[in-house]
Amino acid sequence: MLGEVTDLIEKHQKFAITSHIRPDGDGLGSSLALNWILRSLNKDSEVVMRDPVPQAYLNLPGASEVLVVPDLDCQYDAVFVIECSDVTRPGLPALNTQFVVNIDHHTTTELFGNLNWIDSTAAAVGEMVYNLAKAMGVKITPEIASCVYAALLTDTGSFHFSNTTERTFKIASDLVKYGAQPAKLSQAIFYQYPYAKIKLTGAVLSTLQCDETGKIAWIQMTHKAMQESGATEEDTDGIITYPLTIGDVEAAAFFRELANSTYRVSLRSKNRVNVAQVAEHFGGGGHKNAAGFTRVANYDELSRDVLARLKAAVANAPALNGHGNEIKPR
Ligand code: AMP
Ligand code: MN
Repeated sequence: MLGEVTDLIEKHQKFAITSHIRPDGDGLGSSLALNWILRSLNKDSEVVMRDPVPQAYLNLPGASEVLVVPDLDCQYDAVFVIECSDVTRPGLPALNTQFVVNIDHHTTTELFGNLNWIDSTAAAVGEMVYNLAKAMGVKITPEIASCVYAALLTDTGSFHFSNTTERTFKIASDLVKYGAQPAKLSQAIFYQYPYAKIKLTGAVLSTLQCDETGKIAWIQMTHKAMQESGATEEDTDGIITYPLTIGDVEAAAFFRELANSTYRVSLRSKNRVNVAQVAEHFGGGGHKNAAGFTRVANYDELSRDVLARLKAAVANAPALNGHGNEIKPR
């Protein structure tokens, strides 16, 4: 699949790159890195997003050039769609009339592209974009290195999650050699929060509950709590990590009321439990250990249904052996 993508780039000139609404570190870092790669190959390329660049990523090289628009307004030779589960995720309707290259590392993605390059072994799409640069003989500049590093750093939960492999560290090591500055990037991404985010985190964590097994924890946020703290939806990112830091907890949910009973739900789990399947049931997607979906619903009904499915996911998860590895049925 990588070969078809490099062929396409070699044969064409005019490209756009996009990712999902409310782009995260991998969506943005990979898009910006690919933009630098295409430009270094003397291609016409731009990053086009429906939503603005979150504060945490404003310092990434090229972030200020991202075009924030409600839709695409011209024809490209190809549009690269980075880490999206389906063609509607970027929120750009005119994608339907473009030649689309779907680049993703999620197992739950639809093969919606004219070309689909999917590598579920990659910790982040950043790894794939880095491999693309190498395959095309592109010199890894500090700009490319910084953007790919941001993608790896955020999608691996600062190298905490089980998608972190030897290859991830090998690439991260190369990136530092090529000019990515780990402390500077971590500082920009994780130590520049607004005051309101931490106030909101306090309010949300005070709603923490656990089920009778102690294995499932959940938190909730009302729209009122978000408004009272002066925080934005972006400020709610990352709060879901806290319930999962409880020793016994294996799966966690965060119910966010955005408006009009619209709930954005984040699901997280420790290694053996698969929450992607739970998210898919509710029309979303994601990874085995980090998934989500958005729904208009009544809170009591929604939380009851989600928690029941999380319980089943924990109950059905494979057992672990003494080394912490899954015991696979023969
Ligand atoms: P979040 O909890 O929003 O940070 O999302 C965690 C993971 O789930 C990410 O990898 C997302 O790509 C995926 N995800 C979240 N919401 C959706 C959705 N509505 N559709 C598909 N994937 C989603
Ligand atoms: Mn990703």
